[in-house]
Amino acid sequence: MEIESTLISEAEIQKRVWELGQQISEDYSNREPVLVCVLKGAAVFFADLFRTVSIPVRCEFIQLSSYDDRTESSGHVRTVQGLNGNLHNADVVVVEDIVDTGQTLSFLMKEFQALEPASVKVCSLLNKPTRRIVSATIDYVGFEIPDTFVVGYGLDYAQKYRNLREIYHIKA
Ligand code: 5GP
Repeated sequence: MEIESTLISEAEIQKRVWELGQQISEDYSNREPVLVCVLKGAAVFFADLFRTVSIPVRCEFIQLSSYDDRTESSGHVRTVQGLNGNLHNADVVVVEDIVDTGQTLSFLMKEFQALEPASVKVCSLLNKPTRRIVSATIDYVGFEIPDTFVVGYGLDYAQKYRNLREIYHIKA
C-alpha cells in the first residue's frame, strides 16, 4: 500500500471543520451537548472540531474495532473501550471519521439508544454513500467522497498514516 494523491487539502479540512463547529454551536445554543469521539479514527478530527465549538460542551470517548488491518470492514464491530460518562438525558453528538457501509454507525446507535440520552445526532468528517449496506442518518457531514480507501488526518491503514495533515488516496 502506498500514498497516491491528495484528496482533501489541509486548508479545505480546516475550513470545513470550522463550519461544522459553528453549525453545532448554533444548533445546540441553549444546551450543553456531549461530543463523543469514536476512537481511533476520529481522534484528530475530534480534537479540531471540539475546539471550534463556542458553547459549553462535554467530551466522551469510545473505542471500536472492525477492520483488523484490512481495507474492507469485517462487519463484526466490537467495543474495545466503552463509555465512562453518564449519557442519560444528554444531547449526544457522535463524532465519526467516516461512514462507509454504515455497519459501525448502526452498531453505535444501538449502544447509545440503550443509555437513554435526550437526543443523538451524528457528525462524520467523511461519507462514502455509494458503499452503504445498512442505512445511516448523518446530521453533519464534512465531505462526501467516492469509493476509494483514504488515509491521513486520523485515518489509518494498518495503524499508519494517522499523523498526516491531509487526506490521501491510497493504492494497493
Ligand atoms: P463502516 O462500518 O461504515 O463500513 O466503516 C466505518 C469505519 O471503517 C470507519 O470508522 C473507519 O474506521 C473505517 N473506514 C471505512 N472506510 C475507510 C477508509 O477509506 N479509510 C480508512 N482509513 N478507514 C475507513
